[in-house]
Amino acid sequence: MTLLFEPQVPTLAKTTRGDDFPVRRIFCVGRNYSEHTREMGFDPDREPPFFFTKWAETVVPSGSAICYPPGTSNFHYEAELVVAIGSGGRNIAREDAEKHIYGYATGLDMTRRDLQLVARDKGRPWDTGKNVEQSCPLGLIHPASDVGHIQNGAITLTVNGETKQSSDIADLIWPVPDVIAFLSALYRLEPGDLIYTGTPAGVGAVVPGDRMIVAIEGLTPTEIEVGSIADD
Ligand code: MN
Repeated sequence: MTLLFEPQVPTLAKTTRGDDFPVRRIFCVGRNYSEHTREMGFDPDREPPFFFTKWAETVVPSGSAICYPPGTSNFHYEAELVVAIGSGGRNIAREDAEKHIYGYATGLDMTRRDLQLVARDKGRPWDTGKNVEQSCPLGLIHPASDVGHIQNGAITLTVNGETKQSSDIADLIWPVPDVIAFLSALYRLEPGDLIYTGTPAGVGAVVPGDRMIVAIEGLTPTEIEVGSIADD
């Protein structure tokens, strides 16, 4: 048997302790803050959360410059609280959910908004709008055993020093334990899974040269520069 090419090494996220966290899968929650749900043109009724997925290889560490992706002229930031799963399970009850969390991080769900909206309006999959190369910047993962469980606290995003998103984790329509309960009814969660929990209002476009900072109270910020247009 011949190994035809080198398999890709799993994406390794860093923890605040200097450990490597092998990323398995990325689940993202859509429309999980009322104000953002309204700005996207929907009524923030408490419907069950919905999910989309991204490849693990879309994770890039804070401090990176990401390429401006091809195929878009409306590349959007979405500041998010990210949950890192440490132990797996199916049909996890919301009361048990926190036991499955390794830790928390700041992150960005970068989006080709133009492609996502066309897909949404035509009833097509969101993949090319959402599952974009380098579209999941991630800060250091803080173990819950160090910082506790994040249930509230300011979440902000600045672009070139100007505040664009400002909300509170307490404003999540579905808090993290509920998200884990819903998601684990659909998939067996596994160690290494990341959950991007949704973004507050104020999403908008960036262009090459812009610098974004996502901050959440108690967590290390994610700092990302938008680099040149991908051409390799
Ligand atoms: Mn998002």
